[in-house]
Amino acid sequence: MTSRHVAIVGAGPAGLFAAERIASAGHRVTVFDRMPSPARKLLMAGRGGLNLTHSEPLPVFLDRYRDARPWLEAAVATFGPSALQAWAASLGQPCFIGSSGRVFPEAMKASPLVRAWLKRLDGLGVALRMRYRLLELPGSGHLRLDTPEGERFVGADAVLLALGGGSWARLGSDGAWTRWSGLSPASLAPLAAANCGFRMQSTTGFPARYAGTPIKPVAVAFENERVRGELVVTRFGSSAGETGVGDGECGLEGGAIYALSGPIRRAIERDGRAVIRLDLRPGMSEAALCERLARLRPRESLSNALRKALRLPPVAVALLREAGVPDRAPAALAALLKAVPVVLVAPGPLDRAISTAGGLRREALDPGFMLRDRPGVFAAGEMLDWEAPTGGYLLQGCFATGLAAADGLLDWLRAGLNPPR
Ligand SMILES: Cc1cc2nc3c(=O)[nH]c(=O)nc-3n(C[C@H](O)[C@H](O)[C@H](O)COP(=O)(O)OP(=O)(O)OC[C@H]3O[C@@H](n4cnc5c(N)ncnc54)[C@H](O)[C@@H]3O)c2cc1C
Repeated sequence: MTSRHVAIVGAGPAGLFAAERIASAGHRVTVFDRMPSPARKLLMAGRGGLNLTHSEPLPVFLDRYRDARPWLEAAVATFGPSALQAWAASLGQPCFIGSSGRVFPEAMKASPLVRAWLKRLDGLGVALRMRYRLLELPGSGHLRLDTPEGERFVGADAVLLALGGGSWARLGSDGAWTRWSGLSPASLAPLAAANCGFRMQSTTGFPARYAGTPIKPVAVAFENERVRGELVVTRFGSSAGETGVGDGECGLEGGAIYALSGPIRRAIERDGRAVIRLDLRPGMSEAALCERLARLRPRESLSNALRKALRLPPVAVALLREAGVPDRAPAALAALLKAVPVVLVAPGPLDRAISTAGGLRREALDPGFMLRDRPGVFAAGEMLDWEAPTGGYLLQGCFATGLAAADGLLDWLRAGLNPPR
């Protein structure tokens, strides 16, 4: 096959992985990105320990994509957790499996991986054009870009978009592409916060002084799921642009609620609220709690008594008060401690979310990740309408769809459906 010119927009993991594949197949690849340097979100992800993927069995892993599983299954099965680890090792970044089953590079950070990766891409002849912002796609093989030298039109034999979602806009992916005039509204699910905090409804005015206070250990139950982990009380500002309504400014965020953020968000969209249940002593049975509570002295204040008997911190007592303590009868109190209801009324702001739900819908793309109404334009990564919890599923999904879209693009070029330019 003759070598062609492929334009990739978005130098995050999905775009760069597609670039590696397409350049390895012998094509000339240019990657455009609006930021001054590539892979900013990936580098940020590495700050707290880069969780590349997860070691659980593939069928369990695939279930984390929930409704999007049928869509992503082939891509993740083709380029799965072991392949991603082997790829990282090929860049001099071997991985290890943490006690939770999560997989990290031994260096923990993303920077050594990104450095080695950019060197490899350079060796493959991939050209990186930074500070190039894609304004729109006037025709299938054309890009209108805002560049340091002013506005430019660029032509390419095929285009791959990997523009990311809409959170942490300062790292590059600002979701502006969702407002392009050429995109049919039907092809797009509105962007929404995923792996995010939620505003609580407060009847008593939940004390703002608890903002930043962790709640652990804790288990969060919602619908038929229960996640054990950690929460932190957070305070959402009331500035313009922050989504959501709510009586108070306080909310909850943290791993235990992130994992349930999809079902919680959908319940709020449907019913205007979602009631989660917190187990404030997940390591103790209700019977054991009841036994401890039976020893409380009736004269003592509830906070003091709970602190002494169960080492329950003041923030947990504030949550109990919010729920309305029924009485001090040990059985009733024990039952409440195992399932404190908390009413959530809105997701936190999209920009503060770890990831984004919504984006290009499955129906808008063919099985090779090509936009059905834009022959020769492919899409991958977080800009597609899927979501997953933290735990490595996000990056795995971005790498896997980056590869699948690159393969779709290569097949399309091979089929010769576009005349050589
Ligand atoms: C704080 C934080 C920690 C995270 N930690 C983890 C983790 O440990 N494990 C995990 O699996 N996931 C993690 N994630 C999520 C993960 O980083 C993202 O899912 C992933 O980076 C998305 O990859 P992407 O290539 O689709 O998009 P991005 O990485 O967002 O890249 C998109 C690129 O497109 C560019 N772009 C956007 N619009 C335009 C335009 N119009 N023109 C030109 N360029 C444009 C942007 O500048 C950006 O460089 C974390 C996210 C955050 C915010």
